[in-house]
Amino acid sequence: AKQDGRNQAKFFTQQMAVDSNKLLNLENELRRTLGTSRYTLFYQPKVLAGSHELCGIEALLRWTDDSGKIQPPNEVIPILESSGLIIDVGEQLIYESCIQLKKWQDNGHYFNYALNISARQLLNSNIVDTMHKAITESGCDPHYLEIEITESVVMSDVRSAFDKLVKLQALGLRIAIDDFGTGYSSLAYLSRFPIHILKVDREFVKELPMNKDSITITRSIIELAHNLNIEVVAEGVENIDQVKFLETIGVEEFQGFYFGKPMPLADFERTWLNVSQM
Ligand code: C2E
Ligand code: CA
Ligand code: CA
Ligand code: CA
Repeated sequence: AKQDGRNQAKFFTQQMAVDSNKLLNLENELRRTLGTSRYTLFYQPKVLAGSHELCGIEALLRWTDDSGKIQPPNEVIPILESSGLIIDVGEQLIYESCIQLKKWQDNGHYFNYALNISARQLLNSNIVDTMHKAITESGCDPHYLEIEITESVVMSDVRSAFDKLVKLQALGLRIAIDDFGTGYSSLAYLSRFPIHILKVDREFVKELPMNKDSITITRSIIELAHNLNIEVVAEGVENIDQVKFLETIGVEEFQGFYFGKPMPLADFERTWLNVSQM
């Protein structure tokens, strides 16, 4: 048994070494490919309730590994965050986003462009200056720009978050609270912040229109948001029953696989903007 224990301990340390080695390699790869096209954005449509017309997109980070395989953000973003690389990547994405938005606007395509901003990026970087520079240099109309942040970002450093959001709003941007309902903050509290949009988390949408609790929660989120002049977007919409139900209770916008998955630029332009590829 003693021998067993020792072997097991050895196995675990070896396994842990392999795992941490893997993470370190991934981190090195992420660092080595900074600023290259290995980082790209996929676009997911947002549509208006009722007409189901395109009204915006969410830009979602994708990273391509050495073998050409696209890695999902849930593998990559935690490493970008813990290593601090998210600040450099985030800056790159802000510039790319403003340039892309300007291209669309020049071609007469006006819709909202939402970018996710992580805690570190909001609180520990010069995001206001970066955003200002990217808007000025690209010449895009910033009133179509949105940033998505989570409640936990706001709650982690209330003063600093408030200060940054006020400055970002002053640049013309709109601010969305992402994954709403999963954190511990109250909307009454958040109402003191410059918040324009609330995204109801997929966890609640998933259970609609069957689950009574999800119905109650979604209804009250919508009512409170509307009383505070905040728009509501439902995320993770996957079927027509959810759409119908959410329309009856007054959600303004939808996002989810039912309308479209996140997709590369060319696919998005072909399917949603009728841009033909040469
Ligand atoms: P999120 O902001 O909540 O993004 C929505 C996620 O839900 C996306 O996953 C999207 O593919 C997925 N989704 C959308 N509609 C549906 C649906 O109908 N059903 C289901 N099952 N899923 C749906 P993705 O692209 O893997 O992104 C995961 C998370 O990574 C995002 O969650 C966001 O927190 C983070 N993220 C993505 N891009 C960026 C970025 O550029 N910067 C930062 N800081 N975080 C990002
Ligand atoms: Ca988001
Ligand atoms: Ca979300
Ligand atoms: Ca979510």
